[in-house]
Amino acid sequence: MPRDGVLPTELDLNGTPVPLDVQWHPRARKLTITVDHTQRMVRLVLPRRVSLKEGLSFCRKNADWIQNRLAALPSRIPYAHGNLVPLLGEAHRIHHVPEARRGVWADQGALWVSGHAEFLERRVTAFLRDFATRTIQPLVRAKAEQIEKPVGRITLRESRTRWGSCTPAGDLNFCWRLIFAPAQVLDYVVAHEVAHLVHLNHSERFWSLCARLTPEVQGPRRWLVRHGQTLWRYG
Ligand SMILES: [Zn+2]
Repeated sequence: MPRDGVLPTELDLNGTPVPLDVQWHPRARKLTITVDHTQRMVRLVLPRRVSLKEGLSFCRKNADWIQNRLAALPSRIPYAHGNLVPLLGEAHRIHHVPEARRGVWADQGALWVSGHAEFLERRVTAFLRDFATRTIQPLVRAKAEQIEKPVGRITLRESRTRWGSCTPAGDLNFCWRLIFAPAQVLDYVVAHEVAHLVHLNHSERFWSLCARLTPEVQGPRRWLVRHGQTLWRYG
């Protein structure tokens, strides 16, 4: 650890600043750099005895690799008038309608947003989070009812590493960004976590229960591997 405790939060890549996260890991054996696609940032993990200076010079040596990884990420699509966002896989174009007094609503392939332009982004974000809750919670409850299992707390997060998770107490967590994916993909992830209410493992019995809870398992799993990253483009 640097003695002054101040860590850089940016990496200078040939003149371009890139957000950086530096961590020392007691069990790390070598320096590792990963490009976090959810945050578009570089994560540097250092073994205990490696200095920050060495770590940063390691990053500079790998600058081309880092830049290529960043350049390969799908471009960002901010919430702005005219931009497309998918809701359950169906493209919706954002339309700013300043005079309307209805908040935000989805209708016929459009996402209508009323109010001042400066609030558009915030309002779309709030709408999407609420849409996620209204979509995912009933889906979870319906599937849990199918197998007569009680569900604990259902939490939606901006989780970076997992699409869903299930605790031994029966609490379920989901990444709210799944609402951008096709409906059958979301349905599969919900089925997967609900099946964990019965089997806290990935045994054959787990997969056969999962298959009973959703029309398709393999297609959505492949979709998440191939296209999962794109769910982080929006906003
Ligand atoms: Zn699982």
